Amino acid sequence: MRRKLVAGNWKMHGLRAHMAEIEAIAAAAAAHPQVDVLLCVPATLIALAAEVADNLPIGAQDVHENDLGAHTGCVSAPMLLEAGAKVVIVGHSERRADQHETSHDAWAKAAAARRHGLGVILCCGETEAEHDAGRAERIVQSQIEKSLPDGAAPDWLTIAYEPRWAIGTGKTPTLEEIASMHAILRAKLRGMIGAAANDMRILYGGSVTGSNAASILALEDVDGALVGGASLTAAKFVPIIEAAA
Ligand code: PEP
Repeated sequence: MRRKLVAGNWKMHGLRAHMAEIEAIAAAAAAHPQVDVLLCVPATLIALAAEVADNLPIGAQDVHENDLGAHTGCVSAPMLLEAGAKVVIVGHSERRADQHETSHDAWAKAAAARRHGLGVILCCGETEAEHDAGRAERIVQSQIEKSLPDGAAPDWLTIAYEPRWAIGTGKTPTLEEIASMHAILRAKLRGMIGAAANDMRILYGGSVTGSNAASILALEDVDGALVGGASLTAAKFVPIIEAAA
């Protein structure tokens, strides 16, 4: 039985002034113990968020593949752990687009996180052009082939299917498309890691809101949501946690 996970991704949002939102989200998480809730905040907020919301796991949004070295501006897995992060997102489409990260980079980052005991959310998803050309399935399968880390197992790795064209746009695939891609991903994972794939969570991400969460989360192979814009305030995020409960 896979527990639902509702993970927020604050992207480049959040200052000390927003701690009250984190406290309110932590309170909602405590009120819904049947759902796993995670909040991935900017690196600058990890330590503070972990301190104010001790029942709410705090995640990071990126990690360097090396533990230390001459990599100006980067943050390593030991640093994230020391700050209080439990999980890190890798392969997010915004990093693929803005920082030109590849699936191989996501693989190396996931391996670094794993070496130090951080959980990983590994993202995949096609562009709008790939979707419209009917290539989504092949693209997503290829991303998984190239980025699934060695030793992938459900106790530390979660997959997030996030069609790039649905992120932050208000557009979502149809429920049939989401269900079909999650089933394809589950089958792909079975082919790569065997029966452990049955326990691995596959999240959907892309314009999830309090209005569409219940129908998306009810789909068979959807084990939760990765939520950007609607995770920034408790008022928008808590209804998604409630929909997962
Ligand atoms: C995301 O950042 O992973 C995301 C899905 O964003 P949004 O919910 O805003 O589409």
